[in-house]
Amino acid sequence: MNNQDTFFKICCVCDLSQPLSNFDKQTRGKDGYRARCKSCKKVTAYKDDSLPNETWKIIKNFPDYEVSNFARVRRAVTSNGGMKNRILQQCLNKGGYFTVAMKSNGKLFRKTVHSLVAAAFIGTRPKNLTVNHKDGKKINNLPENLEYLTVLQNIRHANRIGLIRKGKNHPSFLHPERLPRGDNHHARKHPEKMARGEKHGRARLSSEQVFEIKKELFHGGIALQIARRYGVSEGMVQGIKHNRTWKHIIYQTMIDIAE
Ligand SMILES: [Zn+2]
Repeated sequence: MNNQDTFFKICCVCDLSQPLSNFDKQTRGKDGYRARCKSCKKVTAYKDDSLPNETWKIIKNFPDYEVSNFARVRRAVTSNGGMKNRILQQCLNKGGYFTVAMKSNGKLFRKTVHSLVAAAFIGTRPKNLTVNHKDGKKINNLPENLEYLTVLQNIRHANRIGLIRKGKNHPSFLHPERLPRGDNHHARKHPEKMARGEKHGRARLSSEQVFEIKKELFHGGIALQIARRYGVSEGMVQGIKHNRTWKHIIYQTMIDIAE
């Protein structure tokens, strides 16, 4: 540690490895030095590292940023948010699409890269249309791979190229053991957690009312008349009658108990 010149650091602007003596000290920095070297102090933009045939277009609603036909996004101006020509980091979102974070009027927005590329190189997206990846690869955001389709056309395209797993390719067919069925089902394992009867959010009757209805039905009550009296549909009373619903409410007669 005696001879500081033996330690080198890469400048964030010129990308050259230089001895630490070429960097200004900065106590809040990670290693105690500034990220850019002394000769890069007054530089206000990163080097333009555009690839051959790469063209940039200003992003609508985000005038500080540009998107290229190689699906890259960079800063177009130097401001307190960052330096000109800085390429933005792209992150995969939960859906498997690349996104970038951009600021507009002090607010941070996260946008998918394919939507930016399509808007810049195909045209503003018409209402009710979505962006489709022609080759089915969500990370291939080149303009020639993108097109505007309706939701239905997009689903049909996904179907045609086999992105949607169905039939013998469906996960439930490939891995039936992973599905909670029979005694493994949540409702069987934890019946006390199920919202049954009047605990259910859409229940129209209370347990006592159902008990009364079952009693009336047993003694020859007519479903339609009962339904009118309780202010429910006839189908609901029929469901109770034929044991399709409210199965856990049991009206036991003396005959049942005798058996
Ligand atoms: Zn430098």
